[in-house]
Amino acid sequence: MKLKLDLHTHPFEATGFRQITPEIAGRLVARIRERGLDGIAVTEHADKSYGFKVKEIVEASYPDIVIIPGQEANVWPVQVVELNLPGDVTFKFLAHPGYPGELTSADGLHGIEIDNPLHSWHINKEKVQALAEKYNLMLLSNSDAHTVEDIGARYNEVSIEELCARARLQGQP
Ligand SMILES: [Zn+2]
Repeated sequence: MKLKLDLHTHPFEATGFRQITPEIAGRLVARIRERGLDGIAVTEHADKSYGFKVKEIVEASYPDIVIIPGQEANVWPVQVVELNLPGDVTFKFLAHPGYPGELTSADGLHGIEIDNPLHSWHINKEKVQALAEKYNLMLLSNSDAHTVEDIGARYNEVSIEELCARARLQGQP
């Protein structure tokens, strides 16, 4: 089943609270619903524990909302978002191509952002499309939200199964 998912968000930075409380979970869920999304990936910088906490708290009260835990990792000279999917599958995509640096190897990557409103000026869409074809990467559009309001500014229509299949097909790092 295809879902509307924003796969790159920073709710911890958006709310300023490292702790996820039911009140904060409620704010996130309200925004997800307002945007007409099925869910988000929570991808704090170098901290995947926060995403797992958000998943636990949100799913306890809002079982219809999908939270994918993940993190944004520094793999100099690029930043890679890792999504922790069911069955211990990790889907990895290049965040904001061109920032901070250029891709030197697509090893272990399954996707690439072609749209990220925080970094529009860094992203050369023609180049991204060529990279996606060359390395068979899924094209993704994400908000990279650092405010609650920005969550869902971009999203993808994709199923969890599709993400898992792509990650399995192209190998696990
Ligand atoms: Zn980010």
